Amino acid sequence: MNLAALAGLYVHVPFCQQKCGYCSFYSFAPQAGDTQRYVEAVQLQMRQLARDADVRTLSFSSVFFGGGTPSTLPVTVLASLLADCCELFSFTKEMPEITIEVNPGTIDAKGLQQLRRAGFNRLSIGIQSFADQELQQLGRIHTSGEAQATIEAARSAGFDNLSFDLMYGLPGQSVRSWQETLERALAIAPEHLSLYELTVEEGTPFFLQAEQGQWALPSEDAVMAMLATTETAVDSSPLERYEISNYAVAGRQCRHNLNYWHNGLYLGLGPGAVSAFGGQRRATVADLPDFCRRVAAGQSVWAEEEQLDAAAAFRETVIMGLRLLAGVSITELRHRFGLDVTTYYGASLHRLLDQNLVAIEGGRLFLTRQGLPLANQVMAALV
Ligand code: SF4
Repeated sequence: MNLAALAGLYVHVPFCQQKCGYCSFYSFAPQAGDTQRYVEAVQLQMRQLARDADVRTLSFSSVFFGGGTPSTLPVTVLASLLADCCELFSFTKEMPEITIEVNPGTIDAKGLQQLRRAGFNRLSIGIQSFADQELQQLGRIHTSGEAQATIEAARSAGFDNLSFDLMYGLPGQSVRSWQETLERALAIAPEHLSLYELTVEEGTPFFLQAEQGQWALPSEDAVMAMLATTETAVDSSPLERYEISNYAVAGRQCRHNLNYWHNGLYLGLGPGAVSAFGGQRRATVADLPDFCRRVAAGQSVWAEEEQLDAAAAFRETVIMGLRLLAGVSITELRHRFGLDVTTYYGASLHRLLDQNLVAIEGGRLFLTRQGLPLANQVMAALV
């Protein structure tokens, strides 16, 4: 098997019981018949793609059911979609990492046992906060007690690879409250943490509420203090930061997301999913009825197709790779794109090196400790 054909498989489930106020993803509460229409269309899309000559060259080392909230689907449906993936596509010999995102409050102990038996071996749990007041304000459907119960049930079901999503920079959140959430999470000893700062996206209810002054986000200083708290707390845990927002114990970095950060190949199923294979990036229509109609008619589901030239793909690989603390290998970039990073970026890279925002050591270009909080600014200079 050609190494270049290693890929990740993503299944987008666009359903959520209720929309969180800050969310800008393509997801909605399903109406009668939506679930069945979705499942039939994805199963048909899988069969169509399994015949595609470019897809047939891919060998998947990870599967990720994301959303939305995949755990809003019945467990038997999730198991059957995963079985279809395994039957129709090629996988690496090594056991693939098979993740499903779950929301506390949408799955019980029995459901978790069924997911584990079906072959899912990694759970990404959307906890966000252990403070009930913060959860309520975010519009989450669960309490901190339900999150705790989901974690305990997941461990009992045999999941030995758990990731928690947590958010900081929330309206009204104090540094102390963030510290308590983080400490509570670390006390449970997850294998992986994803820590995201809340961003208020245009078009969300949160954006409107912020404009109307209904609440204020923590100050920049408070957010910096939350980051410092994070660093101290994680330093005394077995977790290690390996990406701007992600932390893992040794050997438990998210394989599926590493593939994105390496700008690798991936196939996305379901409405709104994005794919990169066959030399193209393709975005699937983010509309369930349109998606179902196109699949049933055997028409293309791609709303956008983009052919990246070598230089654009090179820049993307550099920018994505800089998200990783290990950065990017200059030799690998040269082999892959025939371009040298120092020659290509010239003065703009030298400026960043002089400012000590990036460094080159051991043949790798990476963000320095000083550059990490300014990652967006660094990436804008290299885009
Ligand atoms: S559960 Fe996740 S995908 Fe669903 S609305 Fe909330 S943030 Fe968005």
